[in-house]
Amino acid sequence: MTGGAEIDHESDRADDLRVDPDGTPREACGVFGIYGPRQPVAHLTYLGLYALQHRGQESAGMAVGDGSAITIVKDMGLVSTVFNDRTLAALDGHLAIGHTRYSTTGSSAWRNAQPVFRSAGDTEFALGHNGNLVNTAALADEWGMLDGTITSDSDLMAELISADIAAQHDDRSDGRELERALMNLLPRFEGAFSLVLMDEAHVIGVRDPNGFRPLCLGKLDNGWVLASESPALDVVGAHFVREVDPGEMIVINGSGWRSVRPFDESRIDPKLCLFEYVYFARPDAQLYGQNVHRARVRMGEILADQAPVEADMVMGVPESGIPAAEGYARSSGIAYGQGLVKNRYIGRTFIAPDQNVRALGVRMKLNPLRDELVGQRLVVVDDSIVRGTTTRGMISMLREAGATEIHLRISSPPYRWPCFYGMDTGTRGELLAANLSVEEIRTYLNVDTLSYLHLDSLVEATGATGAGFCDACLTGEYPIEIPVELAKDVLDGGSPAEPVVGQLSALAPLGEA
Ligand code: SF4
Repeated sequence: MTGGAEIDHESDRADDLRVDPDGTPREACGVFGIYGPRQPVAHLTYLGLYALQHRGQESAGMAVGDGSAITIVKDMGLVSTVFNDRTLAALDGHLAIGHTRYSTTGSSAWRNAQPVFRSAGDTEFALGHNGNLVNTAALADEWGMLDGTITSDSDLMAELISADIAAQHDDRSDGRELERALMNLLPRFEGAFSLVLMDEAHVIGVRDPNGFRPLCLGKLDNGWVLASESPALDVVGAHFVREVDPGEMIVINGSGWRSVRPFDESRIDPKLCLFEYVYFARPDAQLYGQNVHRARVRMGEILADQAPVEADMVMGVPESGIPAAEGYARSSGIAYGQGLVKNRYIGRTFIAPDQNVRALGVRMKLNPLRDELVGQRLVVVDDSIVRGTTTRGMISMLREAGATEIHLRISSPPYRWPCFYGMDTGTRGELLAANLSVEEIRTYLNVDTLSYLHLDSLVEATGATGAGFCDACLTGEYPIEIPVELAKDVLDGGSPAEPVVGQLSALAPLGEA
């Protein structure tokens, strides 16, 4: 067995000032895994990561194994900039995992790009993670790790797995060390984790007991695929088999795949992130068996019934507000139109050297179609308001372009609480709805009327009522305890005295929904 290699594209640089012109929560990561004998697994992983690019644009990477060694290529940047024909041609093997990253813990730096690689004894393995652990600090303390030993929750997981495998090598070596390490350690991890892992002979997928982040299994003619979202199966020609269950581990090797249940039954409590439906997931993804685009259209339809208004045109904020706008128009009978053009090439983030340039962000991304807007009473539909700065700029543009009335409709409830499960939403002080009532938000945004979709209507719109959702950022009801240390960093106005579970909403008064 030869040693693993990391092809070093190191470009570890000072973090640029990055802003999200959407002002919306930023996705955490996309993961992909493939076991495909006689298949070009590196190229297929590349295609799969392309399909998952929306889940993370900060860095991308893949690990490829040929049965004797694992080679990793990763770098900062988009999938298209990290990989080229030359790098892909050098990656030969029959199993691979891939990762696209947006940092939610750990800094935005090359050393935190994934997959993470470790070797222990005769075993090499690589890991890709979507989500956030909430007990990283407690685990690091318990294992006596010195400050600076680990750089992120994903790094911690790899470190612990590596230590467990090393301990196993004292006893026996049968090629199943990675699986045994996971059986030992997964029950100790708390928080959100959809994982893909590989050693020299297996590709493994894991979903945490709450299933906060999606993960699905697909079948190739000659192999198996794991992916955060089903469109990544489509692009590599794999057929959707099923979603990986919350609390399930799928182990794939030359014999096919096995389902393993590493967690105690009492911990299984499905809580898929509601925002996967609202914003994060691709419209062509299937979640809980429901098409995401269809769910977004339904959100708009219900919103039209819930918050009707007289107007001349319904328009969506490109692009994630458009399906709900179509639904609103269909249900209300008001004409659907396009009022904003999106610059398709700006991407999800851009570098802004200072506040003045940052303020121009919305204009770089969206431009009004003046002829469509002059003299019009508009219903403007968007999926969410997080910080509100972009929405305010966009409304100002529409007014300058000649709109006479603007009725803003949001296809989710007010976003009031920070996410600890893998979405970067900033601190509570940065969340508009955490600090202002709906009427104050209406005034701040300078719109004539403002309505948010009710929570029960949002759940209804998913088409999977009763399936189990996390709605903590909307309700403050956190399904997994948030340790004091973690909570105090993102809660303004003082830290809670106790670990928080299901009661953050009691900590501060809120504006009415
Ligand atoms: S807190 Fe919000 S964004 Fe985070 S997992 Fe829960 S629903 Fe999703």
